[in-house]
Amino acid sequence: MNLMDLHIHSNASDGVYSPAEILKIALDKNLKGIALTDHDTVGGFLEAQTLRVPDHFHFLSGIEFSSEFEGEEVHILGYNFNAEDSSLEELLENIQKQREVRIFSMVEMLCDLKIPISVERVMGNESTDSIGRPHVARELVRLGVVKDTQEAFDRFLKKGKPAYVKRYKISIKEAVSVIKDLGGFAVMAHPGLSSKYALDYTLRQGIDGIEVYHPKHGLRTIKKLKNLATEKKWIITGGTDYHEPGNHHGEIEIGSVSVPYENIVDAL
Ligand code: AMP
Ligand code: ZN
Ligand code: FE
Ligand code: FE
Repeated sequence: MNLMDLHIHSNASDGVYSPAEILKIALDKNLKGIALTDHDTVGGFLEAQTLRVPDHFHFLSGIEFSSEFEGEEVHILGYNFNAEDSSLEELLENIQKQREVRIFSMVEMLCDLKIPISVERVMGNESTDSIGRPHVARELVRLGVVKDTQEAFDRFLKKGKPAYVKRYKISIKEAVSVIKDLGGFAVMAHPGLSSKYALDYTLRQGIDGIEVYHPKHGLRTIKKLKNLATEKKWIITGGTDYHEPGNHHGEIEIGSVSVPYENIVDAL
């Protein structure tokens, strides 16, 4: 079957592989296509556009907007939109700037805890346009403060921990309309991880699809979401939410969660 992994993070946001490295893996795994869904940036997709890609392989434009409902994180995926639009560029630059400002606050809070971390070191080791907590977590690992990024989140970076700083987020409505105005389709990411309230709200914001297949969705969740998507005539998407080898959502490899290419083509 022709399969697509529609949820992958590159080093344009908080993944570790470059678009070229991800493309190579996807081709090795015989995938029919992928979407880079970086947090608040299309830099990875634009870079991928400059790569030599075999004719049979499909690169769908993608993004994952970090949004929220009453303080709870909600992520909106966008696909197949015009990624070169100048108003999109302006919006994303603004979000990325605010992400940078937030890193300064996080580093300051860590310094107050006598951790010898610096913004230069956090940023210097990364080629990202969309800096976030995983980059700080990786620096804490390099400094030997924690043994892995999970420990960095658990001790310092999660909500309620001493170096947590809120991030500016666009509203769910805005994320959905930005994607749709650019000709794309908007999808609620990993709905199985959301509360009933956030789910009910988000599903009423004009989305075109839901991410039914995700590493953190169990069989019952998948079944429920699939039935819902069928009833509402929503596009069914899925992917690995891949960031780096052997981390994050467990031992996941690119392509191990995917959807049939035909289903996506039908939706375009
Ligand atoms: P940020 O966008 O800077 O708030 O960072 C959010 C990203 O950090 C998510 O997209 C995940 O990649 C990662 N993340 C969030 N929570 C955790 C956690 N508890 N453990 C490990 N990684 C996490
Ligand atoms: Zn991430
Ligand atoms: Fe997400
Ligand atoms: Fe993601």
